[in-house]
Amino acid sequence: MTSRTVCPICTKTSYRKLHTLDNGGLIGCKNCGTVLFVPRPTIDELETFYNDQKYRENFDTSSMVGTGFAHHRYESLCNVLKQFDVQIASKPNRRLLDVGCGTGDFLQVAQRDGWQVTGTELSATAADKIASRLGIPILTGEITSLQLPEVNYDLITSYHVIEHLIEPLAMLRRLYQLVSNEGAIFLETPNIDSLGARLRGAKWSHIIPPEHITYFQPRSLQYALRQAGFKRVFVFTSAPQMIESTQHLPVPLQSVIKAIYNIAPRLNLGAALQSIAFKD
Ligand SMILES: [Zn+2]
Repeated sequence: MTSRTVCPICTKTSYRKLHTLDNGGLIGCKNCGTVLFVPRPTIDELETFYNDQKYRENFDTSSMVGTGFAHHRYESLCNVLKQFDVQIASKPNRRLLDVGCGTGDFLQVAQRDGWQVTGTELSATAADKIASRLGIPILTGEITSLQLPEVNYDLITSYHVIEHLIEPLAMLRRLYQLVSNEGAIFLETPNIDSLGARLRGAKWSHIIPPEHITYFQPRSLQYALRQAGFKRVFVFTSAPQMIESTQHLPVPLQSVIKAIYNIAPRLNLGAALQSIAFKD
């Protein structure tokens, strides 16, 4: 099974076995370091999974939605843009595309700060909800098949999408086509090489196939973005806003664990893997 899997990032077929799970396993590409859930689900299987009513309900009540979360996300993004001296944040009529915009809260925050925003979302129900609630244009479908203007967006963001994809490179190549020549893309995905992933192994909270099927660490994300055409790629990690696996522990213990998790990003071991990438 593992020997026939072609790495969706580097096309090599040599792996090391990492974890055995109830419904399959995780293998790591020996060449580029991308971690794959096998057996790879088919597009039909994923569609059935995501259209399930229960999945939508869980998503709407998850900790990663809501206005507070969106504000924090937007502020962190602005800090990254400042850090890398990206001038687009002050440009008039600046255009932002958020791929996999979920409930749209992040786009709303960005819009209020002067961005012309567009979102994409797989679920038509979610897209309709955002469009009617926030009046933000949302396109429904895979980014690789949507009709969008190329070389157009000053900034493209995508939070926690790439790990859901069977072919992440196709998405990255599409982002390369859509972003303007002076623009940037910003990605966030779980870090399979994080402190939490190392400590918790197969029990790490982000190992949830068939939802998460392609996992990255700093080296493999850097490699993938270069494969997609990006010339300047910066990869870093950050501490999670909330550590869900410690919520049941006594507060003093939670604080100690939080302190450790806050040091982790300095060693590139933070839970959230982030990247800003440029075409030039
Ligand atoms: Zn590979």
